[in-house]
Amino acid sequence: MRLKNKVSIITGAAQGIGLATALKFADEGAIVIVCDLKAEGVKAAVAAVQARGAQALGFALNVTDRPALDAMVAAVKEKFGRVDVLVNNAGITKDARLVKMTEAQFDAVVDVNLRGVFHASQAVADTMCAQGAGVILNASSVVGIYGNFGQTNYAATKFGVIGFTKTWSRELGPKGVRCNAVAPGFVETPILATVPDKVLDHMREQVPLHRLGKPEEIANVYAFLASDEASYINGAVIEVSGGMTV
Ligand code: NAD
Repeated sequence: MRLKNKVSIITGAAQGIGLATALKFADEGAIVIVCDLKAEGVKAAVAAVQARGAQALGFALNVTDRPALDAMVAAVKEKFGRVDVLVNNAGITKDARLVKMTEAQFDAVVDVNLRGVFHASQAVADTMCAQGAGVILNASSVVGIYGNFGQTNYAATKFGVIGFTKTWSRELGPKGVRCNAVAPGFVETPILATVPDKVLDHMREQVPLHRLGKPEEIANVYAFLASDEASYINGAVIEVSGGMTV
């Protein structure tokens, strides 16, 4: 129970890595706040968290909608009195090579992956600073560190959240708030649905463990970073890729 009663907001928690993180946090004793665009997915995730014996609240919201984020944080504080952890997990892809990418594709990814992380973090920062404690965790990617064919927009945002992480670790660290990023390799979730099988096979070959990651293997790292066991980890980018970039 490393996260006993830690009030933990997880964005994009209706499926994939976010859902696995919500369930892991539940197992570790957290109070889990599920946020996602998909209302049905939010309901199902809240029920799954509760089925594990943890308290949960759900919010169907878009992380680009600042008033909705502020209302969610106000409701969480009203009910539980504090916010201990924010996992900025919601993210999207709209892939195209540089020469083909439309401004709409660029803007959509920047809006969710960068502006959404900015807004959600700003929405909790004052509360965490006033508490003198808190943890913000950002979803980066190996793509943000090394780039990837066809992912100009996505790579820029995933490198961008590393910039957020380093900056907030300096700004908020003195107030007792830690900020870290996780950079997964390729993980088996619906986000990979549009990636051709041939490309996925090539990715598997590149990984020394010869397989893609599982959502639970990323969730485990979020849980560790959110816990007091990680009390001296601040401003770090933890790569969880099965060694694919070695
Ligand atoms: P996913 O597509 O399976 O799930 C993402 C969830 O975020 C969905 O439930 C979706 O509804 C939600 N979401 C999308 N836009 C939203 C918005 N504007 N507001 C609220 N919710 C929104 O993705 P995943 O593979 O679980 O990825 C989770 C995070 O991890 C993303 O930030 C992704 O970039 C990052 N990541 C994933 C991989 C991978 O291989 N799966 C690798 C590296 C990083």
